[in-house]
Amino acid sequence: MSASPSSFVAKPQQARLPYPYRPEVDVVEAALATLTGQLDWAQVIRAGRPWVEAVREKPAPFWAMESLLREYPISSAEGLALMRLAEALLRVPDVETAIALTADQLGRAEFDADSVVDGPHKMLAGISASAISLSKKFLPDADGEGGLLKRLGAKTVVAATVRAIQLLGRQFVLGRTIDEAMDETKDQRKDVESARRGAGTAASGLRFSYDMLGEGARTEHDAERYLASYANAIKAIARGQVAASPENADGISIKLSALFSRYEDAQRERVFAELLPRVWTLIELAARANLNLTIDAEETDRLELSLDVLDALAERIAVTFPKWQGFGLAVQAYQTRALQVVDAVAAIARRHKLRFMVRLVKGAYWDGEIKRAQEGGLAGYPVFTHKEHTDISYLACARALITHADVIYPQFATHNAGTIAAILQMARAKGAAFEMQRLHGMGEGIYREVMKDPAIPCRVYAPVGEHRDLLAYLVRRLLENGANSSFVHQLADSGVDVERLLASPMTTARPPAFPMPAHLYPVDHGLQRRNSTGADLAVLADRAPLDAAVTAATVPQVAEASPEDVAAAMTQLDAGFEAWNERPVDERAAIIRRAGDLLDARLAEFCGLLVKEAHKTLGDCVAEVREAVDFCRYYADQAQIRLQDKVLPGPTGESNELRMNGRGVFVCISPWNFPLAIFAGQVVAALVAGNTVAAKPAEQTPAVAARMVDLLHEAGVPRDALVLLHGPGETVGARLTAHAATAGVCFTGSTQVAKIIQRTLAAKDGPIVPFIAETGGLNAMIVDSSALPEQVVDAVVQSAFRSAGQRCSALRLLVVHASIADGVIAMIRGALAELNVGDPARLSTDVGPVIDDEAYMNVSRNVARLKKDARLLGETPLASSFPRLVTPVAFELARIADLKEEIFGPVLHVVRWNGDVDAVMHEINALGYGLTLGIQTRIDSRAQRLARLAKVGNVYVNRNMIGAVVGVQPFGGEGLSGTGPKAGGPHYLLRFCAEQTLTVNTAAAGGNAALLAGESGGH
Ligand SMILES: Cc1cc2nc3c(=O)[nH]c(=O)nc-3n(C[C@H](O)[C@H](O)[C@H](O)COP(=O)(O)OP(=O)(O)OC[C@H]3O[C@@H](n4cnc5c(N)ncnc54)[C@H](O)[C@@H]3O)c2cc1C
Repeated sequence: MSASPSSFVAKPQQARLPYPYRPEVDVVEAALATLTGQLDWAQVIRAGRPWVEAVREKPAPFWAMESLLREYPISSAEGLALMRLAEALLRVPDVETAIALTADQLGRAEFDADSVVDGPHKMLAGISASAISLSKKFLPDADGEGGLLKRLGAKTVVAATVRAIQLLGRQFVLGRTIDEAMDETKDQRKDVESARRGAGTAASGLRFSYDMLGEGARTEHDAERYLASYANAIKAIARGQVAASPENADGISIKLSALFSRYEDAQRERVFAELLPRVWTLIELAARANLNLTIDAEETDRLELSLDVLDALAERIAVTFPKWQGFGLAVQAYQTRALQVVDAVAAIARRHKLRFMVRLVKGAYWDGEIKRAQEGGLAGYPVFTHKEHTDISYLACARALITHADVIYPQFATHNAGTIAAILQMARAKGAAFEMQRLHGMGEGIYREVMKDPAIPCRVYAPVGEHRDLLAYLVRRLLENGANSSFVHQLADSGVDVERLLASPMTTARPPAFPMPAHLYPVDHGLQRRNSTGADLAVLADRAPLDAAVTAATVPQVAEASPEDVAAAMTQLDAGFEAWNERPVDERAAIIRRAGDLLDARLAEFCGLLVKEAHKTLGDCVAEVREAVDFCRYYADQAQIRLQDKVLPGPTGESNELRMNGRGVFVCISPWNFPLAIFAGQVVAALVAGNTVAAKPAEQTPAVAARMVDLLHEAGVPRDALVLLHGPGETVGARLTAHAATAGVCFTGSTQVAKIIQRTLAAKDGPIVPFIAETGGLNAMIVDSSALPEQVVDAVVQSAFRSAGQRCSALRLLVVHASIADGVIAMIRGALAELNVGDPARLSTDVGPVIDDEAYMNVSRNVARLKKDARLLGETPLASSFPRLVTPVAFELARIADLKEEIFGPVLHVVRWNGDVDAVMHEINALGYGLTLGIQTRIDSRAQRLARLAKVGNVYVNRNMIGAVVGVQPFGGEGLSGTGPKAGGPHYLLRFCAEQTLTVNTAAAGGNAALLAGESGGH
């Protein structure tokens, strides 16, 4: 889609908001301060009580969320099964998988057919029963056919379950098309009118904001489809009404992530150039029809970008449609920056002399935000950790919106009776114009009561779409309302009395409900390992030091080690061994931990060097420094936990002890693809176990290694315990591995080089020494037809193309079920077209260059070969002249066995499968490698079985298959992929140790004193 002539140009990110990770208590106290004297909570309870009592007396309809949750709480096996089936079943195209999925989920729950009349699960069972009888009419009569009968029985159950889920979905979607949805609203408006007639008014006061359902766009094609669907909806809404003002008209809600596959802060320029013109076409339609267009609020990492987008659009609206008052956005109260967002939005409106409609919500992505912060090692959480804090923030934001009445028309979206009553109180006290909002299918009971007051206008957020598109939305609603803290959940629980249900949230601010991301890991043997510090690249304050470091970084020259240097170093390290090994393990661990802390504090500096020397993207660099920090801290802890002298049991009269020592000089040889993390991991593991280390980094990346060695010396590692020896593998590497003093080798690299080292060690005189080799992989991902294609494509793009495919864990072979293969391949092709290949120093770059000319030639040659021998599925266009760029590319192969070798670049092979999934796993095993495996399925038992069959080290289900975290996903493979033990796992250090037992005959000097004294009968 080409940008319209009215294209927008990105301005640099503006610092409109404070830091998101300020202490929660401070933020909440500030919000509480704005509410002092604003609310009479006794009055809130008086107002809310009759609503709650009325709803409990006359519950919402059978299928409303409240009833559903009472029947099947998400915490129960049945509730979970229902939710997981709802998420997946409707999209499965083939009968076999649908049967397997249904059997898998229903099998673990007790949906008892006998309970149809009055059992605990009567609702689903009842619906299933009626659906079964319905579906039977359309199925051939199976009587008399043995095997087929069984099969048709399964089919019938699946059909019934599909039916039940469709019925469930229908409660939350107003219609499959906008016309159907608009038709549906007539009945709803009539219901409210008749209720109000009873209350003395006939106007319905009911408005709708339509939302066109679907996953976020992954491709241009998706984005075009959504744009057309939004435009079509706006036109239909406009046809259906004559709007005097946007407040009194139906409107539309749009998600920017549906209109552009790269709606993310890192793609700011493209967001302005490509997304904004699309939004503008919708704005033109909405403004001409004078209706309300609201931009939904999405994840926190888009928050600042969304304000810049708002500003740019407002600037143009001010010129083109200065009288239109229907533009707006949603603000999430659970953000720690929510109050400042409200002020920033008001400031934008004022500057452009506009009025916005602002929907205040609590926020729908809470669990995802917490996970992202923990995974990223961020400085805190961008959202509150207590539900009450979100409620307080909501009220503070409501008050702020009301005070900005000159430029904001507030729209309060909540189903919480206490929140509603409090809002009404504040709004009425100020005489403010406002409206309430609820989601279709939710809060119906409460709003049935609230809406009896004719002065309260309400807008229903009404999702529109096909059943398939509803799934993600439905699951979010199920999850949100399944939470114990949810108002809707508590309303359905008669055990929660009205006072508790409506209790004021405005108590004093509390400390965070769970540990900060830095303190994620629990105490183990009295040690608490600190999580490494990350950076939020969407936040200017976190990103600026990294940008500055990249600009400032230069790559120093590192001298190559001569044969004499190698010999001298080995003599020095051999001599240094005894003293280092004699140091108590606690002391060595303290030094390594100190190194981790130093590195943690120098994140920016190391990122700068990594970008410049290894040409890695900034995101990859942050992850790499963090991994190195984690290695230091993890191995320090593991040494203290596992390498202490241990007293062993035995007969009386002797003492037995197991001692762990270093082995001598360990040679550590690391690759260029993780020049810091793998280098540091090997070296510190060997050191903390008591060895001295000859560290040979990859030829391409000695500067990063040299700086790490300096840092280790600075932390206290003696100079005669660690020496860096830079140079080619054929010379420096070969001399080191062949050296008589070498007591062990730790290597990460290709299988071929590992074999050479193995032969060198075998040919060496003297002791047989340990060899730890971590080599490559032909890593596969198996996708069945219950998988969510969007999730699959996200995982594929990250696993196959990030880091230019230069990870040993990278995905090389996607094995996708034939029934969904065309769709998945089309989406991969579309996603490939959206990747940015270029200079790794630019934040917008997804894929940087390959490491050197040799790699470039090698990968290019293989791509040229595949272009002749295989079917090209898609390729990223090249729009940069940066050197050594290989564009991400995907090919289709006929058979798994056609994949012969690891191409260390952004090259993906795709094979379709059909039939027996276990056979697919055996074919993958037969490739001989065994590093990583991805499985994408919603059939839990299938995932578990495949994992057991797989001869691989790391299995990832329903996620990407890269980025193993130290101590969380210990990393390493089997077969051609390596010897083990796993790096970042509890057994790693042991391989670097020599074990010694010490047995002392304590009775040697005349007798067993302890036994005679009655102290010991053996231990
Ligand atoms: C009309 C409408 C439009 C909406 N549009 C959007 C949108 O654009 N973007 C969006 O993100 N959401 C949107 N939502 C969803 C909304 O954010 C809430 O998830 C939902 O309304 C539940 O809030 P409540 O006040 O009804 O219920 P309540 O039960 O009172 O509140 C539940 C909410 O509290 C918060 N919460 C739960 N547990 C915790 C905790 N431990 N710590 C801190 N906070 C917690 C969460 O935000 C959760 O959703 C919309 C909702 C409505 C009604």
